[in-house]
Amino acid sequence: MKILLFFLLFLELLVIFVLLFHPSFITGLFSDDYHCKDCNVVLISIDTLRADHLGAYGHYRNTSPNVDLLAAEGLLFEKAFSQSPLTVPSHMTMFTSLYPSVHKVCNYERSEDYCSHYLSFNYSTLAQILHDYGYVTGGFTGGGHVSELFGFSRGFDVWKEYRNRRNESETLQSIVDISNWVETVKDKKFFLFYHTYIVHDPYISPSRFHLWIDINKTNIYLSTEEILNDFNNSEVDFRKIFWAGVNHSDPSDLKQLLGLYDGGVLYADEQVGLIIDKLKEVGVYDKTIIIFTADHGEEFLEHNEFLHWKLYNEILHVPLIIRLPGVESKKINNYVGLVDIVPTLLDFLGIFSLSQFQGVSLKPMIFGYKEAPRIVFSESVQNYRYSVISGDWKYISRKDGVVELYNITDDFYEQKNVAKNFPLVVNHLETLLNETLETIHDESSKSRN
Ligand SMILES: [Zn+2]
Repeated sequence: MKILLFFLLFLELLVIFVLLFHPSFITGLFSDDYHCKDCNVVLISIDTLRADHLGAYGHYRNTSPNVDLLAAEGLLFEKAFSQSPLTVPSHMTMFTSLYPSVHKVCNYERSEDYCSHYLSFNYSTLAQILHDYGYVTGGFTGGGHVSELFGFSRGFDVWKEYRNRRNESETLQSIVDISNWVETVKDKKFFLFYHTYIVHDPYISPSRFHLWIDINKTNIYLSTEEILNDFNNSEVDFRKIFWAGVNHSDPSDLKQLLGLYDGGVLYADEQVGLIIDKLKEVGVYDKTIIIFTADHGEEFLEHNEFLHWKLYNEILHVPLIIRLPGVESKKINNYVGLVDIVPTLLDFLGIFSLSQFQGVSLKPMIFGYKEAPRIVFSESVQNYRYSVISGDWKYISRKDGVVELYNITDDFYEQKNVAKNFPLVVNHLETLLNETLETIHDESSKSRN
């Protein structure tokens, strides 16, 4: 009798613990019955891809025929945001569902107090969780910041890095390797992760993607061959030489860069199409969940500079498309984050891993069960420190003390700072930001103990 009572008490405590600390478990219990327990998983991350340069997100150029087809069959999240403008922290958030200042893994060049350059063994990645649940796992990445050196390879049976991002034959090789790997695992449950820097600067793609540029313009390099011819040294810094030719105040240079960038988007789209073709060829497409996204976008002078390190929407607004077998396509307008990917995916797979997640499962949102307003929180270790989006508003807190507030419903690309006009909104979002910070750090200490 005593044993039975202890057992019942233990069960009760377990239920209370799960309900309190694991919201993704709760959504799993009460949301729609959709599961795809035997599905394979393909996660595609195109480094530096802005959402608004894809056809599916309204771009005026035909940069993404394959991704657009995927979107037409899947769930397109119109308001998906990255939690960091930098490659390492953003991908680690995508892999762990932990906020950047919680997993603490930063790019190489960052050395702020909390930065580590390897994921703590207190945390698990998506690949580790899926591997534990019997998935065969393969990661094929552009290396660099998405490298085993940071812990990204943990949980992968096969991990390959294609480090020469400007070499077309290496890009092709990565797809050949993926195709061969898919052949060997097609009869098992598998998880495939594909990442490429094709879209990243310098915006150099094969000439067949030079559809939207002025080929007579000579100050910006179009190929690595041109650079090597001029500098006669394979160790040259391609990015430095590329950017040295750019005149920031010349509108025709901006136009050329956007044309080159879009060529890279089309090049990346081609690789996505090849991966999807392979899944169809071996007959697993209809039992595979495909998640298409990016770690961050890219600035093209919206805030007077290029590249990606700030917290504005040209950098944080990323594509998120999820194709679920048997589920009709739909556009979803609620705010979501890359931090939500892992709990959402595991919810679909019926895996209720007692892990560290700080995002939530989007399943109730997808099936229309819960449309509660959400906030998006992002952070950077540089001058632009934190941002929070809530409703129409986005608040940015900077280390230099400048306060920024934008109405992103009217001004999505944050051209007019209205902080002075709406002090009450500023106060409200500042409080929300501080509360969010407190919560995510409290939660992390709970899950570690
Ligand atoms: Zn990146």
